[in-house]
Amino acid sequence: IQPDAYCVFGNPIAHSKSPAIHAAFAGQTGEAIVYERRLAPLDGFALAARGFAAEGGKGANVTVPFKLDACALATELTPRAKAAGAVNTLRFDGEEILGDNTDGAGLVADILRNAGVAIRGKRVLLLGAGGAARGVVLPLLQEQPQELFVANRTVATAAKLLEQFQQAGAGDIALRAGGFEQPEGVFDIVINATSASLAGDLPPVPATVFGSHTLALDMMYGAAPTVFMEFAAQQGAQVRDGLGMLVEQAAEAFFVWRGVRPATQDLLALLRGAL
Ligand code: NDP
Repeated sequence: IQPDAYCVFGNPIAHSKSPAIHAAFAGQTGEAIVYERRLAPLDGFALAARGFAAEGGKGANVTVPFKLDACALATELTPRAKAAGAVNTLRFDGEEILGDNTDGAGLVADILRNAGVAIRGKRVLLLGAGGAARGVVLPLLQEQPQELFVANRTVATAAKLLEQFQQAGAGDIALRAGGFEQPEGVFDIVINATSASLAGDLPPVPATVFGSHTLALDMMYGAAPTVFMEFAAQQGAQVRDGLGMLVEQAAEAFFVWRGVRPATQDLLALLRGAL
């Protein structure tokens, strides 16, 4: 039998770890799939994705800068993709194109399972209000934290991000938005979803948001800890990078496509060793 074909679209795409991750999942679960990188032209995502589906492709991951294009291309969106306004996973079923977003589920799985930290009843501080932050708000709220504070350089964007959830009613969860200097007291979980780490910058949050039991997670990953991770560690926090989130969002996408949930722990350790 021909294996089912999947790919990841991005521009650039050469650095993507997704092919290695999905090859490992396929080997582990015995699912017959092939998975490759596809460079799409900056103005040609829809054509490239439709072309892949026409060749028989069953699904695709989508990364920078095409998550909004993928959202527009989908004929049906999952609630979490709709809330994010962005799509990182497509599933092709004939004429139907399902758009999903597994980034938030990946983040939540990494916090709960890999870091072993509960979210329910906790104070959560989310730094940033761009695409990555938008993708994780609904899955975080579904875990029933006590508070979600979204802090951003541009305060209006943080307020806008929370608007849809305030309108829908968030139950007992306190939803707050503000600037980086505004959060008060110690938070249980601080997530850096800004792109500041890419430039070696630190979102100027008060050092007092970190306590000895705080989990500080930077969505960015690489060989060295980010300035955010270093700063949080200096305040005594437990720190984590975004590699676990990356592996978990891939596992969730694999589940969307194949209905099988791969194990992630060994692969995560392997990838960490290879950074
Ligand atoms: P966007 O460009 O959509 O958003 C950038 C955000 O960072 C905005 O909130 C912006 O604030 C803020 N920002 C940018 N520069 C600075 C700075 N110098 N100081 C403070 N805030 C700053 O990016 P994404 O949301 O797509 O990506 C954010 C990060 O998340 C990236 O590092 C990306 O690699 C990572 N990521 C990791 C994933 C994983 O699986 N591990 C998945 C997805 C993303 P403002 O609104 O004021 O401009």
